[in-house]
Amino acid sequence: MNNFKNANFYLFSFNDKKYILDYINIFYSEISQNLYNEFADIEKKGLARYIADMRNESKGRNQKTIQFLYEQDIFFSKRIIQTARTYDEAFLTMAPIHECNLQCKYCFAKQGENYINEERFMSEEKLAEALEYLYFDYFREINEFRFDFVSGGEPLLGFENIQAVVKKCEEFRKRGKKTKFWLCTNGTINKKQIFEFLDNHGFNLGISLDGLKKDNDIYRTFKDGVSSYAMVVDTLKDILTGDNYTRRFKNIWGLVVITSETHSLVEILKHHKGIGLKRVQMRIVRTTEVYGLNDITFCVYKNLYDDYLLSLSINFEKAILSM
Ligand code: SF4
Repeated sequence: MNNFKNANFYLFSFNDKKYILDYINIFYSEISQNLYNEFADIEKKGLARYIADMRNESKGRNQKTIQFLYEQDIFFSKRIIQTARTYDEAFLTMAPIHECNLQCKYCFAKQGENYINEERFMSEEKLAEALEYLYFDYFREINEFRFDFVSGGEPLLGFENIQAVVKKCEEFRKRGKKTKFWLCTNGTINKKQIFEFLDNHGFNLGISLDGLKKDNDIYRTFKDGVSSYAMVVDTLKDILTGDNYTRRFKNIWGLVVITSETHSLVEILKHHKGIGLKRVQMRIVRTTEVYGLNDITFCVYKNLYDDYLLSLSINFEKAILSM
């Protein structure tokens, strides 16, 4: 064992049982009191000191288990999770448009109709002025920016506004201000020319899909009630198999809205993995209506998460001891 890795575990007790969580590989396991004590020793001493002590001692069974786990990158890894937020990056968000081609029943933006009687349009000049102010006045000390094109409708319907922002930010780059772009689409606007533009400008792309067809179609439909599922999956497939896109761009994340009618988080994760989404973000629907999180549905949501937690549990200790 060398000490180039970090300890990435969290120990906890529940109902008189001992557990360990691997927060890099995302799983937890029940462990024996002895192994728990060994991990607690690492926590107390720090990993470097524990390894140094181990070199001078004859290794017992628990230490051999720790060594094995260390070598397998389980509970130990070179990755570091940043827990403290640094203030050297500014986060900006903008809804490029307040219109949508879908009519998701849970839409917090009311398919863009929230602002139906309001003037939300910003001319290119006004936009440039606002960005100039944000980058060089309000955030004058900051050189790294994250710009999220958020939903208030379907962002890609406002492609011209996205282009205008990107053009301005590219100019700012020459003046020392770098921007990373993020955008989440509903996946129904499948235009190569748009995706090539996003890829060329380093966008991180997300696609909303609530899981299997049976889950997705409960809420995410077109205005005439037609399912959006097949179109979204086709868009994803076209990007993932397209020779013209970079590997980075293909690393799309899936956005899933969880409601009390969601069948299973585990099924959704398996489904998304199956269609090529390696990263998935799940969010509980933003409402307290019948399918939202409220006193009545609380138990339904709890069951969904309990079922998911159970799927993360691995009894590794038994497996190692029988090796
Ligand atoms: S795709 Fe987004 S903005 Fe459009 S209706 Fe659905 S939730 Fe609303």
